Amino acid sequence: MSNATQLIHSIPVDPLTGSISVPIYQTSTFVQEAPGVNKGYDYARTNNPTRETLETIIAQLEKGTVGIAFGSGLAAIDAVLKLLKSGDEILAVDDIYGGAFRLFTHVYGKFGIKINYVDTTDAENVFNAITPNTKLIWLETPTNPTLKISDIAAIAKIAKANACLLCVDNTFASPALQQPLSLGAHLVVHSATKYLGGHSDLIAGLVVTKEKELGEKIKFIQNASGAILAPFDSWLVIRGIETLHLRVQQHCRNAQVVAEYLETHPAVDKVFYPGLKTHLNHLIAKKQSKGFGGIVSFTLKNDTEAAAIAFVTGTRYFKLAESLGGVKSLLCHPAQMTHKSIPAERRRAAGVADSLIRLSVGLEEADDLVADLEQAFEKSESPSRRLQNPTAIL
Ligand SMILES: *Cc1c(COP(=O)(O)O)cnc(C)c1O
Repeated sequence: MSNATQLIHSIPVDPLTGSISVPIYQTSTFVQEAPGVNKGYDYARTNNPTRETLETIIAQLEKGTVGIAFGSGLAAIDAVLKLLKSGDEILAVDDIYGGAFRLFTHVYGKFGIKINYVDTTDAENVFNAITPNTKLIWLETPTNPTLKISDIAAIAKIAKANACLLCVDNTFASPALQQPLSLGAHLVVHSATKYLGGHSDLIAGLVVTKEKELGEKIKFIQNASGAILAPFDSWLVIRGIETLHLRVQQHCRNAQVVAEYLETHPAVDKVFYPGLKTHLNHLIAKKQSKGFGGIVSFTLKNDTEAAAIAFVTGTRYFKLAESLGGVKSLLCHPAQMTHKSIPAERRRAAGVADSLIRLSVGLEEADDLVADLEQAFEKSESPSRRLQNPTAIL
């Protein structure tokens, strides 16, 4: 059975009524026959049938055993960190999602957890940075916004040899392209807000574990802390996942066209897309994933914030917004938006140049997207023309 068929048929038909759409159990509690005698549910923080269906689907998709659905991607990451105790160390990818950086450094740092950020694109750096206190290795691959790739299987071996957990934030690739648990990771987390939901209409997070016992620990933490996903939002994520394979295929095709176009444009300096042969980690990306994803970043020869801002306010189809992975194409200027809180020198050292622009390539026709970028280049090169169309960003 193909992956798409397996996915679509892993979404159950309701046994009670035959409803082909998963029912939304909008309830806080479940009536019991006698104390402790129930139909498998007692209180909806602990468990809810709609959420449970999503959890089963994501566990299958990621080739794991236990799935747990949270109110946001960061709540999912937070639950994994609660596996640690004071004195433990995390070894994390240096080009990490800003929200994860904030949580690790400014929240967990306070509780005596040390974080060591390294360039994980070279597995040897991971090997060299491990200490006896390292209990968790944290990867994102591809990273945001410079799309660096780390070798999951190689780093999983290092984790195993040092008895520490490996968790991969699989948000950018999605399980349609990459399944870290099959490459040796212990845990996968997602911001389901992005490709899994896929329609820019919700905030949600997921954790999947390879082993049942670790999954039970995360479920315990979730029930103890309470950051669950609501029934309606669980249903929306299921609804999004139904078309995941189809959408991701098209995101990849469109992004490849856009990346190749950008590579030839005279105003562009560098293009970051793992599907380009010029990408530093192209071969690892090809080895461990079925496609290269829908995110493309690039810098301008005129490496100034002003040039980037002129460009990002000049597109018609690419809407200026944070977030990614939805049907509509988005673009953002990390230096002024997602990475604004990072000091300029640190940000530049991490490869986020002043003119870096990140595209989330959507599901429009690729030719229309290229035409949109082309007209934005033309407009941003002659600012007076831009002023004739001040509503362009709406
Ligand atoms: C968006 C994002 C998150 C955070 O998810 P939220 O749903 O916004 O809480 C975590 N990791 C990555 C890679 C993301 O892109």
